[in-house]
Amino acid sequence: MWIEGRVGMQISGRVRQIGHALTAWLLHIGLARAVLVIAAFSVLSSVLITGLCIHLTMPDTLLEEWIYFAILTPASISPVVGAVIMSLAYRLAQAQKVLARLAHTDPLTGVGNRRHFMESAASSLDRASRDGMEAALLMLDIDHFKHLNDLHGHAAGDSALIEVARCCSRHLSITHTLARWGGEEFCILMPAASIREASALADRLRMAIAAMIIADVPKGVSVSIGIAVTGSGGRDLDALLRAADRHLYQAKAAGRDRISSGTPARAPVAVFRYENDLASH
Ligand code: GH3
Ligand code: MG
Ligand code: MG
Repeated sequence: MWIEGRVGMQISGRVRQIGHALTAWLLHIGLARAVLVIAAFSVLSSVLITGLCIHLTMPDTLLEEWIYFAILTPASISPVVGAVIMSLAYRLAQAQKVLARLAHTDPLTGVGNRRHFMESAASSLDRASRDGMEAALLMLDIDHFKHLNDLHGHAAGDSALIEVARCCSRHLSITHTLARWGGEEFCILMPAASIREASALADRLRMAIAAMIIADVPKGVSVSIGIAVTGSGGRDLDALLRAADRHLYQAKAAGRDRISSGTPARAPVAVFRYENDLASH
């Protein structure tokens, strides 16, 4: 008790000392000037702390000048107002991120949608073209899908779409862009890939998809694939899409469950079905 009393007295003595020193300082520099210094210090520290928090928490998309301005101005009036605005802005940024993700995702399969493909493939093509590399585009379509829907029901068709998307994702690397183009069609862009590499991947996909076990689809599914390559330096995504579509049509016309490939400018260089055929191309 006695010791506690002594410590308490020492602390209150220190506080009193600081109080005296502060009062002396205020009297020394003048009250108005002291208020000014304290206010400036509080504004500066609040701006710095808020700015630091924004840097650490805000996604890049929201780091626009106007956001800084909008947040820092009230923050400089009161740190509490700044904190409230900052938390609202953070929630807004999160909501924007979710919306952006949804706008680029196919809701059924979870892979990218056509919009995602157009944006991502265009920039991949640009990069490949700058590096003087070829790029390949695969267009993959499930065979007789309408028949599958009619025979086993729409839910079974949906399961097939989900499984095909999963199978494609498993076989792709991080540099590839996969998207559901629409209906039962999927697109894959392979930057820095030759026609041979693209054909090899297409055949792996074709066989993996044929071997899949899909709930409520006893016989599984087969796919036809059209491939187009840019040739070195090409970057015309539309031409590539048209060519891949043409080759897909040729694979369908040749009997389905096969691959057709070529460049945008030329007729197909190959239509093949079995892995062994790949060796001859
Ligand atoms: P082909 O072998 O020539 O490709 O014929 P196909 O029957 O696969 O192609 P078609 O274009 O005639 O039919 C595609 C079908 O895909 C028609 C449409 O009802 C169905 N479909 C499109 N989107 C979906 C979907 O999200 N879920 C399901 N279950 N079916 C879909
Ligand atoms: Mg089809
Ligand atoms: Mg189709």
